[in-house]
Amino acid sequence: MNFFNKISILFLAVGMACSCSEDKLDPESILVDLDIEQNELDNYIQNQFTDDYNISIVYKFVEPESDYDYNLSPANYESAVRITRLLHYLGIEPYDRIVGNKDFIRAYFPKLLNYIGSPAYRNNGTMVLGTAEGGVKITLYALNQLTEERSTNVAFLNRYYFHTMHHEFAHILHQNKDYPASFREISGSGYVGDAWNDVYEGDDVAGAAADGFISPYASKEANEDFVETYSYYITLTPEQWEVRISSGSEEGMEIIEEKLDIVRTYFETVWNIDLDVLRDEILRRQEALPEFDQLSLN
Ligand SMILES: [Zn+2]
Repeated sequence: MNFFNKISILFLAVGMACSCSEDKLDPESILVDLDIEQNELDNYIQNQFTDDYNISIVYKFVEPESDYDYNLSPANYESAVRITRLLHYLGIEPYDRIVGNKDFIRAYFPKLLNYIGSPAYRNNGTMVLGTAEGGVKITLYALNQLTEERSTNVAFLNRYYFHTMHHEFAHILHQNKDYPASFREISGSGYVGDAWNDVYEGDDVAGAAADGFISPYASKEANEDFVETYSYYITLTPEQWEVRISSGSEEGMEIIEEKLDIVRTYFETVWNIDLDVLRDEILRRQEALPEFDQLSLN
């Protein structure tokens, strides 16, 4: 039985149990085959993600739910190992450390992570760095660009993976407990919707900052603005943050700072997370990356 047959049958068996009875193989043989295929990464995911946080990771194939329009290919094994180790070290453990237990991640982090090897592009040429569906699943793209040379490049890691991860995670948090309406009112009618990529063409960070947005994408609508402000704040050094928010205009900088105040208070009061403490924990780990063994699964 070939790999793709197994996968589609597994998917059908789980997702549409009542519609796959006539021409499919016996489900028992599928489970046996999957057991045999457990490798070191599978075991690591089971121990460090599934047992501890009830998180599953799909990395071996482009699963049927993925958007076929993008013409996607799977992540290679080494890149999948690296990102899994890095997600644990840079993405999940800082939250555990700050809240003092694993319950927060277990309760709110998406239950399914999906790795895609290739980048994904929209029709307008913008690259999709990540997608999230209903607070349940985060898909990370371009995993095969995570090579050894780039594995300690913090700017690269944030731009491609961790900014996305924190961005999507923050969506889940505000969908569970909303932030104050006062945040939406700051930019009000200044949000540009799907035109964000034209308004700030060529990733015009300074242009967006001049209008009070931490990134071009933040100008799309208030929810994106909220999670972009959060994600940039906790992954940038204080110096990088200052450079970024002051790259447009004095007025724009003050608007971003006003937004940050609301984000900061929201995380403090709703989630008992001090953004500065979380940021310092993330930055400390970013600095320690050269000593962190990304390929050790023991
Ligand atoms: Zn978003």
